[in-house]
Amino acid sequence: MTEIKSHNQYIMNNNIKITYPGSEKVYMPGTIYPELRVGMRRVNLTPTVVIEKGEKIMTENAPVYVYDTSGPYSDPAVDIDLQKGLPKLRQPWIDKRQTGDTQMALAKRGIITQEMEYVAIRENMNCAELGIDTYITPEFVRSEVAAGRAVIPANVNHPEAEPMIIGTNFLVKINTNIGNSHQNSSIEEEVEKAVWSCKWGGDTLMDLSTGTNIHETREWILRNCPVPVGTVPMYQAFEKVNGKAEDLTWEIFRDTLIEQCEQGVDYFTIHCGIRLKNVPLSQGRLTGMVSRGGSIISKWCKVHQKESFLYEHFDDICDICAKYDVAISLGDGLRPGSTFDANDAAQFAELDTMGELVERAWEKNVQAFIEGPGHVPMHKIKANMDRQIEKCHGAPFYTLGPLVTDIAPAYDHITSAIGASMIGWYGTAMLCYVTPKEHLALPNKDDVRTGVVTYKIAAHAADLAKGHPGATIRDNALSKARYDFRWKDQFHLALDPEKALEYYKTSNRTEGEFCTMCGPNFCAARISHSLKDCEK
Ligand code: SF4
Repeated sequence: MTEIKSHNQYIMNNNIKITYPGSEKVYMPGTIYPELRVGMRRVNLTPTVVIEKGEKIMTENAPVYVYDTSGPYSDPAVDIDLQKGLPKLRQPWIDKRQTGDTQMALAKRGIITQEMEYVAIRENMNCAELGIDTYITPEFVRSEVAAGRAVIPANVNHPEAEPMIIGTNFLVKINTNIGNSHQNSSIEEEVEKAVWSCKWGGDTLMDLSTGTNIHETREWILRNCPVPVGTVPMYQAFEKVNGKAEDLTWEIFRDTLIEQCEQGVDYFTIHCGIRLKNVPLSQGRLTGMVSRGGSIISKWCKVHQKESFLYEHFDDICDICAKYDVAISLGDGLRPGSTFDANDAAQFAELDTMGELVERAWEKNVQAFIEGPGHVPMHKIKANMDRQIEKCHGAPFYTLGPLVTDIAPAYDHITSAIGASMIGWYGTAMLCYVTPKEHLALPNKDDVRTGVVTYKIAAHAADLAKGHPGATIRDNALSKARYDFRWKDQFHLALDPEKALEYYKTSNRTEGEFCTMCGPNFCAARISHSLKDCEK
């Protein structure tokens, strides 16, 4: 890696560590692989205090374990050196495998890998200790990966990433998009945004850089990223032909794929589902094509009047991905860009092609998932999920929102989180975040935080509705803390503790048994507590 300007690097190394108030980093060991150390965050709570007959009675509250995406950044025992990169957690496991031993290949051979046990522990947290039944065993993870219903994105050249799983039967995951453009941002900013995303709970990260230093930016992100990293390789290939779609060739694209596989990218969005015959279907739309990758390859098809090289060379793409265990995210190049275009013939024709391709990927032991819309009004969302299940054989669905209305630029993190919550509940495995800057500008650090937290809400709401084992623990603990007026515990359990505290402090001076929202006399919680005294 070339050096990040030394002064900036000094500042970043010293400030990039992550802390969470009231929490500590803990690790859980494996059973099949006792050497595993699965990182999680334990939020330590204060006791509930009640006064009875003038006496203070304290009851302990159990700590709450929280799924933790912050990796070594939140471990005080780990020194972070961005120039060196993070510790290579998976390297010893990878070293014992053969080329082509993808997670899917191993799963089909009946082998439970270290990654599979790791994700089983990670999904369950301390459910066993709490006596909560869970179906997520290492064997269940293996069977889901073998069947293609779940993906563990894990390039052999990205050993720094902590294993995680994407599938309907697991916690709903969220993806953060970062990356520079020609107009904006630097390597330092992108690395900062990557770590920032992990702090707030981003499960995977897509580097969508289209500006200068694409390779270098990606290298810095990969070496310092504890979560899987995805890209759209077409962007870099397009840069290589100076933005002239017609000059793209399979060879240029293939070489770009290999370059990114070697670097350690964990999953590729590739718009293989666009067929020459389907391109005209988007012409009658209100908003044409809104996918960058989709529009580039469609233009290539039209200019050359040929089937796309992404479709024609799909088996070659799979061979490359299998060698490194890179997952394919079948890109939705024809996704609707407006609620008017939702669920139209172009969108569904592409989805049907993806269903055909995903089986071909599985034949080569390549893990794969399917990308989805986009813009879809609420009453048309379920049809998307139903059709995906029907046509794509249970492969995980990964959607961008969807935005349920188009009238709120600057608030599209909200318009899309509504759709994301719904589709997550119906079965979508991963939600691609949207920030308030969607359609307007490249997101900055603050937008990344807002986007990630908004999508954590959508994903968690879906987990609750789906009944994921242990999903209610944090909700119940926070509700109890609120009712007990344990303000600090409430903040520490919140998705964004800092913002909650900041808002509280705007008008509350002490931690009393009410807040300024209703005031002391109208505080319903306080009155509700006093009901008990009336009974005595
Ligand atoms: S004052 Fe109102 S909002 Fe504040 S704690 Fe009491 S009931 Fe809740």
